[in-house]
Amino acid sequence: MIFALVGNQNSGKTTLFNQLTGSNQRVGNFPGVTVEQKVGSITGRADLSIVDLPGIYSLSPYSSEEIVTRDFLLKQKPDGIINIVDATNIERNLYLTLQLIELQIPMVLALNMMDEVQANNGSIDIIGLREILGIPIVPISATKKHGLTELVEQAVETAQNRKKPEHNDFCTGAVHRAIHAITHLIEDHAGRQGIPARFAASKLVEGDDPMLECLQLSAHEAESIEHAVKEMESELTTDREAALADMRYQFIEDACGKCVVKVKESREYRRSVKLDSILTHKFLAFPAFLGIMFGVFWLTFGVIGTPLSELTEWGIEELSGVIEGLFESFGLNDILQALIIDGIFAGVGAVISFIPIIITLFFFLSMLEDSGYMARVAYVMDKPLRKIGLSGRSFVPMLMGFGCTVPAVMATRTLASERDRKLTIFLTPFMSCSAKIPIYALITAAFFPRHQALVMISLYMIGILLGVLSGLLMKKNVYKGVPVPFVMELPNYRFPSIKTVLLLLWDKAKDFIQRACTIIFIATVAIWFLQSFDIRFNYVTDSAESMLAIIGQGLGVIFSPLGFSDWRVSTGLITGFLAKEAVISTLAVLTGASITELGDILHTLFSPLAAFSFLIFTLLYTPCVAAVAAVRREIGSLRGMLFIVIYQTAFAWLVAFLVYQIGSLLG
Ligand code: GDP
Ligand code: MG
Repeated sequence: MIFALVGNQNSGKTTLFNQLTGSNQRVGNFPGVTVEQKVGSITGRADLSIVDLPGIYSLSPYSSEEIVTRDFLLKQKPDGIINIVDATNIERNLYLTLQLIELQIPMVLALNMMDEVQANNGSIDIIGLREILGIPIVPISATKKHGLTELVEQAVETAQNRKKPEHNDFCTGAVHRAIHAITHLIEDHAGRQGIPARFAASKLVEGDDPMLECLQLSAHEAESIEHAVKEMESELTTDREAALADMRYQFIEDACGKCVVKVKESREYRRSVKLDSILTHKFLAFPAFLGIMFGVFWLTFGVIGTPLSELTEWGIEELSGVIEGLFESFGLNDILQALIIDGIFAGVGAVISFIPIIITLFFFLSMLEDSGYMARVAYVMDKPLRKIGLSGRSFVPMLMGFGCTVPAVMATRTLASERDRKLTIFLTPFMSCSAKIPIYALITAAFFPRHQALVMISLYMIGILLGVLSGLLMKKNVYKGVPVPFVMELPNYRFPSIKTVLLLLWDKAKDFIQRACTIIFIATVAIWFLQSFDIRFNYVTDSAESMLAIIGQGLGVIFSPLGFSDWRVSTGLITGFLAKEAVISTLAVLTGASITELGDILHTLFSPLAAFSFLIFTLLYTPCVAAVAAVRREIGSLRGMLFIVIYQTAFAWLVAFLVYQIGSLLG
């Protein structure tokens, strides 16, 4: 049996999904986190699968989330719907419920966040509400695991007995007449398409074009429908969409008036308002954001992450020493020994040693996100984003871009307009991804040890600023148009759930280790081979004679105006296209330095100014292969993808060039 999990954004769908399936999908106090539908089976009940759908407020086809959900419900026909409702926000949540009921699919209402309702002396008359809505209701708390067994039992029973919602007629007056007239008119068409007639009729009253097309009505029928709607509009003196919305809210208001003792002002709400008076304040919001970010970076690079990283470095070094000793005494072939110690240990080890820094940074970022702060930032950013032709909605994918460009580009699917999507995809690579952190951490530690946090944050800021600049440029030339309006509710601040944060960190660490063991491993071995043999495949002791040196030297010409012409650096940048961490592993292999010596050796390759120009170049140049492939998929054209790759690389070169040349003139 298949159940669809449907509900508003932030109603706790993913939390419930994770609790029921024991999976660890990403939960966020942040609308728009679930992009694709995810499927899992209920723990201990392999016969019951459950699909986590994106959060929506209505079944109108306005955003891709709504379309995904609607298509899933109409075409896949799940055995049952679990409609999750945030009980602290019951009126708004029931708006979707009323539309779901019209689908005539067996349905259970999971009334979530009951813990918060009770803690704030609210109450809900479950039996009364059940009578009014005609569907089973189970009060639950997804985070506290209350009521979950009852929910599953109820859902299975409802689906097994194919118990459809008992009523679906919530309308009165003129809307009622219009819906019923249209229902009769289209019944046979809807039946042929397998769409519930009542649902189709409501959508036609709302003026839903895709539905009109799908039903394949005759011109005469379409005209009669328009006529019925016109009549309704003139009787109610509102437009069609408002008429239906009014009708639904009227019904909900009556129902809640009878059954709900509202949480007037919850503790959480009051606390949120207080915090927001500073954090979303007209003038304080931005400084507060910068302050918080600076704090995060300082803690990560200054206080916690770097010492942990050094410890890991030391551990890897020791291990490598022990293994080298073993090889010596065993008398292992010299070339193989070099491959393992100078190639794999140096390269993969250099990447692994940065994991603590990345974990620490993401620990803080996910705390901020789970607390609900990031949603505020999206809200505050709406205005500036509008200036570059985007809305606050694009903030979510861009924020993900600081983690990894691949999911960020995929997350643009939640954006309503094609133009917003393309422009957002274009801008995500400017948000420096986490795979670049090892590069920044290594270079800043070697060249700017006293101002590490400052240099790091300035890199991120430069990325954002240049993104804004490019956005302005593109808005005028390539991606013309206006952004769609942005509506987002701000969730209450919540204390971050440790479990959520830990799961997220584990995910991140796993991802990094996986990459280190696959793509970085392969790149390292390849680089080691290319630098160990000359073009005649003779083993060379000095890698400057290797075939790689010849290729790298050619490329060095391109980079010498930026201040770094050494062939090892240019080779590193090339492998960086495979994965950004590979820049570090390549440098480690090519310089033959162990991880702890790498910092010193860098001083022979760069002057401090060249090091900064190098940082700028890595910040901006083409995203890695995986990201480029994602861009190709989402933008849907090779040209669009090539444009981004070429623009980014050319732009990176230009900016690094300016930095180095102007810096040299000044210094
Ligand atoms: P989704 O957007 O519907 O997938 O919602 P999420 O599962 O991401 O949850 C949104 C927020 O609500 C998270 O911060 C959860 O920790 C929180 N949450 C979910 N269920 C409950 C609950 O039963 N009680 C309380 N107090 N918070 C919850
Ligand atoms: Mg979710």
